[in-house]
Amino acid sequence: MKKIIISNLKMNKNFKEFDSYLQTLKSEVKNFQNEIVLCPSSIYLDKLFSEKLKFSIGIQDIDHRNQGAATGSISATQVKNICEYAIVGHSERREVFKEHNEMIKEKISRCWENEITPILCIGESLKIREKGIEEIKKHLFSQLEETLNFNDNFQDIIIAYEPIWAIGTGLSATNNQILEVLEIISEKLSLISNSKNIPVLYGGSVNLDNFKDLQKISNLSGFLIGSASLDPNSLSKIINDF
Ligand code: PEP
Repeated sequence: MKKIIISNLKMNKNFKEFDSYLQTLKSEVKNFQNEIVLCPSSIYLDKLFSEKLKFSIGIQDIDHRNQGAATGSISATQVKNICEYAIVGHSERREVFKEHNEMIKEKISRCWENEITPILCIGESLKIREKGIEEIKKHLFSQLEETLNFNDNFQDIIIAYEPIWAIGTGLSATNNQILEVLEIISEKLSLISNSKNIPVLYGGSVNLDNFKDLQKISNLSGFLIGSASLDPNSLSKIINDF
């Protein structure tokens, strides 16, 4: 199965910076076999699309409805011909915008209706981590159960395990911690989906210094990268060496 790297630029880069970011990626990234998904701010999706690069395009979030009175939101129907992927349930959306599992489940439905593969982010807070593995399991199980209870109507999805304490902190989870959680996730996924091949990624302070080591984790399908993907040279090196 192809490995996957997703870059999440979040609310960064102005027009000029994004242009130069793309120029650097175009010149630095060599031939790659893996799936590379760029998720810039939505104002750049159209530009990225018109560049016709070998990268896939993802949106950082989508609305849980297809259209209507939702000022500032973007729906899956609006980006369906541009984006192959949409991040849903990122911890920043859960925390800042109070998005809950029920809404995230709706977002997944909108993605599937519009032929977009959702990238579902799940992960525990530091408080939960400190309570031990049973609490972590309980938390991840409920995030998966409450967003993915679709019975037989299950379509393509990517799961990104992103412990909140590792996001943007420079403190990545260790290989053992990730391995332990991968087992928990696959136990639950095998119960709630018929599909056996759901890619599971890790996200949380992945960078040039640690990605080689993290790559050794068996059954890990790739990475979701925030901060380190802001520098196009770092991202290019990660893509080239992946
Ligand atoms: C993220 O925000 O999804 C993320 C993984 O960020 P970082 O790589 O900066 O931890």
